Amino acid sequence: MIEIQHVSKWYSENFQVLKDCTASVEKGEVVVVCGPSGSGKSTLIKTVNGLEAFQEGKIIVNGIDVGDPKTNLPKLRQHIGMVFQHFELFPHLSIIDNLTLAQMKVLGRSREEATERGLNLLNRVHLSEHALKFPGQLSGGQQQRVAIARALAMDPVCMLFDEPTSALDPEMINEVLDVMVELAQDGMTMMVVTHEMGFARRVADRVLFMENGQILENAPTQEFFTKPRSERAVQFLSKIL
Ligand code: ADP
Ligand code: MG
Repeated sequence: MIEIQHVSKWYSENFQVLKDCTASVEKGEVVVVCGPSGSGKSTLIKTVNGLEAFQEGKIIVNGIDVGDPKTNLPKLRQHIGMVFQHFELFPHLSIIDNLTLAQMKVLGRSREEATERGLNLLNRVHLSEHALKFPGQLSGGQQQRVAIARALAMDPVCMLFDEPTSALDPEMINEVLDVMVELAQDGMTMMVVTHEMGFARRVADRVLFMENGQILENAPTQEFFTKPRSERAVQFLSKIL
């Protein structure tokens, strides 16, 4: 579903942020990306849906070549759900309107169809009773679950998450992770940047460990936690676990 082949990226002539990164995510797989702050995790995940350009290598998502100048990136992004650290809901729209807007404007669904899909997804993230509220009336954890539902409303072929819980108060982290676990168990293809190693252990098929723009480890989850190959990953895990 996601194929990242020898990708290198420079932010400037003397700053290479991604160094020959190669990884793949099969259909239905969950891949967790971890590593120290500044190692290039956000940059890598943003190259997957074309939010960041790259100079070398190739990325194929669902058969589409992201780096090909002929690729229609806005159209590609319609099918790749992305959830960031800061839930960017429209503050002036109700929850249900947040969920239906892009379905109607981008996918051309009728209001009835979009509303039905929106309410189904709200139920799936356990927020049915909040459809008519506004984002400001919900907690951070609830807003992040709405952001996940909004991404799902577009029927994505895969979901990208960039530290979806790191801006949340500790007591709200699990309610968001639980929704992500359910999504993974339903077979969604997911690439997740997170430091939540409990989540990684529970649902990840593979773990990537990044350091200084390189993918230092790319291992099945069990192997990553029991016998990481690099000293840097050992250090990282000892601090985080
Ligand atoms: P991570 O998500 O692992 O913390 P990032 O991908 O955000 O890492 O950043 C990797 C490196 O690239 C950092 O040193 C960061 O300061 C730098 N960086 C990120 N975005 C830009 C940008 N738009 N221009 C220049 N440097 C950037
Ligand atoms: Mg980041």
